[in-house]
Order: sequence, then C-alpha cells, then structure tokens
Amino acid sequence: MTLPRFIFVTGGVVSSVGKGIASASVGALLQAHGFSVRLKKLEPYLNVDPGTINPYKHGEVYVTNDGGETDLDMGHYERFTGIPTRAMDLLTTGKVYSSVIARERRGDYLGSDIQVVPHITDEIKSFVLAEVQDVDFVICEVGGTVGDIESLPFLEAIRQLRLDLGRERSVNIHLTLLPYIPSAGELKTKPSQHSVRELRSIGIQPEFLICRSANGFEEATRKKLSLFCNVPENHIVDAPDTPWLYQIPLNFHKSDLDGALCRYFSLENTRANLTIWEDLAARWQSPKGTVCIGVFGKYAHFLEAYKSLQEAISHAGVAHSLKVDVRWVDTEDKDRVRQVLTEVHGIIVPGGFGTRGISGKIAAIRYARENKVPFLGICLGMQLTIIEAARHLLHLQNASSTEFGETTEPVIALMTEWMQGAQLQRRTACGDMGGTMRLGAYPCLIQPGTRLAEAYAGQEQVEERHRHRYEVNSTYKKRLEEVGLCFSGISPDGRLSEVVEYKEHPWFIAVQYHPEFKSRPFAPHPLFVHLIQAAWTQKDCRK
Ligand code: GLN
Repeated sequence: MTLPRFIFVTGGVVSSVGKGIASASVGALLQAHGFSVRLKKLEPYLNVDPGTINPYKHGEVYVTNDGGETDLDMGHYERFTGIPTRAMDLLTTGKVYSSVIARERRGDYLGSDIQVVPHITDEIKSFVLAEVQDVDFVICEVGGTVGDIESLPFLEAIRQLRLDLGRERSVNIHLTLLPYIPSAGELKTKPSQHSVRELRSIGIQPEFLICRSANGFEEATRKKLSLFCNVPENHIVDAPDTPWLYQIPLNFHKSDLDGALCRYFSLENTRANLTIWEDLAARWQSPKGTVCIGVFGKYAHFLEAYKSLQEAISHAGVAHSLKVDVRWVDTEDKDRVRQVLTEVHGIIVPGGFGTRGISGKIAAIRYARENKVPFLGICLGMQLTIIEAARHLLHLQNASSTEFGETTEPVIALMTEWMQGAQLQRRTACGDMGGTMRLGAYPCLIQPGTRLAEAYAGQEQVEERHRHRYEVNSTYKKRLEEVGLCFSGISPDGRLSEVVEYKEHPWFIAVQYHPEFKSRPFAPHPLFVHLIQAAWTQKDCRK
C-alpha cells in the first residue's frame, strides 16, 4: 500500500486570509495535472461540529451528502475540486477530545494517564491518515492562525507526521498577509517573518509561502521574504486580491505553484490542463447583460452566512454569461423589502431558523406569486410558501409553523419519525440541539410534466441535501392543491413534500432541500440556472 503525498496548509498574521480557498485551489491545480486529491480540515474550535454555531460567528453550516454539518471551507473544497466531502473530512478539537475521552471511559488506554502528546496528537494523526489510500494527494488545512493556543495540538501532530512521512512525502504551505503601510509606501514583510518564526519554534519549516496582498508584490519583497523566512524564492507565491474566486487557481498557476510542487515531489512529467478554468474566467469577464436577483433573508450584512447560495447564484449567472446583481435584504427592514421587490427580476427566499423577519419573507413570496416574478424558495423559503398559500389563498389566517409557536393551523409541523434507508430516525421538540434534524442527501421523486422535471432535464429521481426539523403537514395537502399548488417533488414513500410549484406562474419553485450545496462553477445547479433564465426572460416585462 502506498501512502499519498500530504500537503499541510497553515495560516499566519491574521485570520480570514483565505486558507480554505487556497487549499481548494491547490487541489484543483493538482487535478489539472491529472492527480487525484482529497481535502481535509483540522478545526481548532471546541464545538463538536459547527451545527450549533451562529452563522454570524462562523459563516454558513455546510452540509455534506452523509449528513455532516461542517464548515464553509468544505463548500470551497467541493466547488473547486468537484469531489463530495464527507462528515469525517472535518475534525474539530471537540471531536478529538470526545473520542479520546470516550475511549478513556471504556478503558482502552489500560490505565495510563491521558495527555495531549501522545494521545490527542495520535488521534489527530490517525484522522489525517484515515481513508486516503485511493488518492495521490491529501491536502490538509489547519484552521485558525499560527500562535493561537487552540491550534497547538494540531500543529504538533503535523510536526510529528512530517517526521514519520519524510519531506519527500509531505510539504507545508504557509499563507500570510503582507499589509500595506501608506506612510512608508511599502508592503511589510515583518508580520510574515514573525509568523514563520512562530511556526519554526514549534518545529515546522514551511517550504512554500503564499502571500496575500491587495495588489501583489515586487521582486525586492520576494527576496526579503526568502531571506528572512528561509523559503526559496521560487516557492513564494504572489496572491493579490481578485474579484472572482475561480481566477485563483489560474493566478497560482501563473506563479508556478503547481510546477514547483510537482518538482518538489519529483513528479516532473506532468502538465496542467486548465481549460475548464480558462473558459469559466473568459465567460465571467464578458457578460452579455445583467439580471437583478433579490435575496430576502436574515444575514444581509454578513454574506459568509450565505456562502453556498452566493456561489450558486454566481455559477448560474456565468452559465448564461450574465452578471448577477444580487440585492441582499434583511426582511426586518420593511421599507427596503418593499423597495427592492419592485426592482428585481427574480426573488429568492433562503433557508433559516427562528421567527425574525418572517412577515417580510412572506410579503416577498406573496409579491412573487401575485406579480409573476420568478421565484425560488429554499427550505424555510418553501415552508413559508406553504404558509403564504394557506393564509392568502385558503384564508386560514392562523396558518403557521409550529417552529414559530403554538398555532391552530399547523401547516408546517415537526415530523417525529422518518426513514433513512432502512433505519428509523426519531426526533423530539426538546431533543439535543445538535443532531435532531433531517440532514444530508435524501432522494426526491419528480413528477413528470412539471417545471421541476423540466429543470432537472426529465430525471425521475434526484438526491439533494437537507438540513431542517419541520415538514409540510400532509393533512393540508389536498386543500393546497385545490388552490393551485402542485407538489412536484415528494419523498419515495410519499410522506414528505420536497418541492412545490405554481403551474400558473412563469417560474415559481420552492424546495425543502438546499440545492445551493451541490452547485459547482463547472456544473451549476439546474434550479439556479432555470431561475436566472426565467429572470432574464422576464426582465423586459418588468421595465
Ligand atoms: N427552520 C426550518 C426547519 O427547521 C427551516 C430550516 C432551514 O431553512 N434550513 O425546518
């Protein structure tokens, strides 16, 4: 059995320099050379998974096919490499400690005292080495910033791993920021020098540096970084800011990062085929027009909370060679809701939890339905579509979801039992917050002859990812059908409503799942592609 080669990606100076995107871009470049890759992330926070973290703090919760509630970087990994991530590809400090403590309770350590080195670090090492036999490269990102207390066990595990694997099978890429000081008129390398020194003090010498800056650096800066950080000049990658994420693999290639990595691992005879990335960039650079889409949600001032949604909209725009002007609206701001509704060519009501801004979202759905504006409702957006129909078409004034409090007309309610494959799953209203949701990929049957079937190009069954507790209450289904709602997607056992649409509308689809998680730049999700198409067609009608 041959082990793959391991690329460890660390970050210094400040957080949010883009380690996730850099790791994903390295993966994409190695794929362009014909290698297979797998990406993993080591995340220092103590939560067992990000499922319970407020999206304002850590960005969106990205759901994997196997139901893992992971980090938004896992979304970047999938979008850049096209490889579905798994719950097990993210390891948090919380997971490491729960597993070590569970083993200690079972007596697996035979009475020895449990320590960070070697017990915690061994657990981290076995995560990095698990299930990697089938790939050429494993790219392993370490979350956080070098110097953080929480990162230490992870960095120590990497130091040990590099000793075990040898330099010829492992490499460390360190990502830093070069701040610009206007009064000196210079980019400063000192913070990068310090963060490399910090890494070296724990026994890791990075072989490559990726240096972020607003506009790129000059040759003198490269020389200085090389001298003070002990990294060869041709291993220092210039990473200027770019307005288009998917330009980054091309930028890294221009800096010869992929060539240098291949030479480092003695893999000289490969050449990168970057056609898909070049085609994408070309289409992005020359749009034939602009469509305006309004997203009526909650986190309008923190778009990291809607990362996959943002990306899925942009993939669909590029697929049509259109620029998408997205207006993010916090639905608590009623005046803005009213104003933006009249300006946009398409409307999205995204997923969400809790009661905040609900009436503004329902107003957006009603507007889309009555004014024939193309509409996509996602998860909570689908549940509110049902509530809107029940209130305004069935005239059930109290129609609501039990998520928002007690109601006499629970058109959306908690589902307590459902089947996942052959296994019965159960949840209760007062269950543990982490782990009571319908999570991950579930099949959905598509009714032929519907807009949904048209969007999915006639497929009879698709798999989409879920993350929710509540479901459409099927006792209202018949009455809702009578007022024009068509249940065009259902679970194979017929019990759960997955998709609804209005036939008498140019394009109105609401889905219980999250299509945005599966959209990729070179395989945009059909629902977003069709929404943008409908919005573009409708654009002239709305002038
Ligand atoms: N809050 C709703 C539920 O739990 C919708 C969840 C979502 O939009 N992701 O069912």
